[in-house]
Amino acid sequence: MAIEPGQGSEPARYTLRAGEHRLALNPRLGQPLGLTWTSAIACTHCGRATKKSFAQGYCYPCFKTLAQCDTCIVKPETCHFFAGTCREPQWAEQHCFQPHVVYLANSSGLKVGITRKSQLPTRWLDQGAVQALPILEVDTRQQAGFAEVLFKEQVSDRTNWRAMLKGEVESLDLVAERDRLLARLESGLSGLRERFGADAIRLLDASPVELDYPVLEYPRKIVSHNFDKSPDVAGTLLGLKGQYLIFDTGVINLRKFTGYEVEVH
Ligand SMILES: [Zn+2]
Repeated sequence: MAIEPGQGSEPARYTLRAGEHRLALNPRLGQPLGLTWTSAIACTHCGRATKKSFAQGYCYPCFKTLAQCDTCIVKPETCHFFAGTCREPQWAEQHCFQPHVVYLANSSGLKVGITRKSQLPTRWLDQGAVQALPILEVDTRQQAGFAEVLFKEQVSDRTNWRAMLKGEVESLDLVAERDRLLARLESGLSGLRERFGADAIRLLDASPVELDYPVLEYPRKIVSHNFDKSPDVAGTLLGLKGQYLIFDTGVINLRKFTGYEVEVH
């Protein structure tokens, strides 16, 4: 599912991608929508048919060999490129050795996150964040990982997806949160500058971004649909937030089912 920021005051725009087909979901709000999993799964990297999806969309051989499926992607501070053991050094040069941003976001409360600079604002929309503020820019994914480790002592890096989907998210003063955290983490950040060079960890002077989602009605109680348990998911589409479709019958996280072949009706 692709999510783009809305134009002007419009909410985010959602497009369901299935093979070459594209279905704009915003116009389907308030209408019946059905998704049926055909029981086929194709690896999002190599296209091979796989019985089970690994790491949200990969076949087992890809999961075991691609750098993007290695544990150091989730924990970038464990990057082992310099030990000469990176699974795909060329891929790493294009993806990990690129400017990364450390940001604060409000998805179900304050959280910290990192992403490649080019992934913004998509990353925030994927998480269902309603506010976001980039705070640091660094040269590599590993440096972003070390910075995130510092912030995680003070603030969560997780989203409570149930709270995010219920829309129970209070507005935060992200600039004040940033200033509070930077003051508290001053010695840790200067430690990183000593290690990686004075220019490596750069403070950003960005403005907070507000993000809006097309939701007619938030669910009061969260029930999850799961293609692995029941291949038919249908109901009236009430909203789109993060990677979730919100039906009157329950919610489904489409990211979890990346690579699943689905018929739309
Ligand atoms: Zn594969």
